[in-house]
Amino acid sequence: MKTISILGSTGSIGTQTLEVVRQHSDLKVAAISGNNNIKLLAQQILEFAPKLVCVYDEKNVEGLFQELKDIAPRGFDCNSVKVVSGMEGLIDVAVYEESNIVVTAIVGMVGIRPTMAAIQAGKDIALANKETLVCAGSMIMAEARKQNINIYPVDSEHSAIFQSLQGEPEKSIDKIILTASGGPFRGYTKEQLKGIRLEDALKHPNWSMGMKVTIDSSTLANKGLEVMEAKWLFDVTPEQIQVVIQPQSIVHSAVQYNDGAIIAQLGTPDMKIPIQYALLYPERRFLPGKRVDFFELGQITFEKPDTDTFKALKLAYEAITIGGSMPTVFNAANERAVKKFIAGEISYLDISDMIEKEMKEHQLIANPTLDEIISLGESIMNK
Ligand code: MG
Repeated sequence: MKTISILGSTGSIGTQTLEVVRQHSDLKVAAISGNNNIKLLAQQILEFAPKLVCVYDEKNVEGLFQELKDIAPRGFDCNSVKVVSGMEGLIDVAVYEESNIVVTAIVGMVGIRPTMAAIQAGKDIALANKETLVCAGSMIMAEARKQNINIYPVDSEHSAIFQSLQGEPEKSIDKIILTASGGPFRGYTKEQLKGIRLEDALKHPNWSMGMKVTIDSSTLANKGLEVMEAKWLFDVTPEQIQVVIQPQSIVHSAVQYNDGAIIAQLGTPDMKIPIQYALLYPERRFLPGKRVDFFELGQITFEKPDTDTFKALKLAYEAITIGGSMPTVFNAANERAVKKFIAGEISYLDISDMIEKEMKEHQLIANPTLDEIISLGESIMNK
């Protein structure tokens, strides 16, 4: 029996994690966290019976109990669920005693502290929170080594790389080939990007994801964050990571070895594949869903990313090469810009301009502490 805590159970990765849990009687959910989607959180409580639930915003706790009272079957004791809130509550979920693995499906820098706490408590991590490694990679990886826990990547690309590394000797990696769909604006010129509206950016050709990740995919900022994560997860240099556009999203990423051999993982774009692999590693079990049909597909194509037009990717390479606090600046500036774009306050091309400006103005901290990283991120986001 594997017992799971899920940070962010109502989001895209969280709900798909629960779909996987539903398929396997030896997976159990002990603790979950959500924020605003009280209705869904209440349904999850009834279906999965977690013992501990965190509602991040304390103001939503009462609403959750009300919702539970409204939908719970007769005889259900609403007080049987322990409900906590805030950062402390997230950490309670992350370190929940019965859990052996924590799925970090929460979006944003808010995921860093609970992930660190889970590692310190000896939990394995199914990592879906990008900010954890982007902003605090060196500290997180050092702590993971110290505690001797495993970090299983959930992101499709990193899972593909992880799968391609199985059974291979360490230190034989030549380079990592990180694939990208290119998003809905692949091939667009700067001129064409000028008038992009929110609804255009939310139309991803292959993957169904949360709003922030979908916009990040369209600007290639998401790929930039993934380059930074890959550096930490697989202990390679930024020069060893090559981003390749693969518009059909069938080749999920690959590893090229010293002898020139390339091992890749392919499949339909379905996040449940990497989620289940992370939860059941090293086991592979039946997962319902569409399979890749090469005859139907006909071809898989590759392109070079246009980093002059989609400069967020270029800026991400710069940030991780500089290191220290710079990746946090990249991440926070992007998060802030995306929020403003969603709110209709800035144009699409302003997103990468804002990242660039913030990076230029930043006074680098070479070896930031976790507190410094978090307060730096907050100060940029609250500007
Ligand atoms: Mg990805």
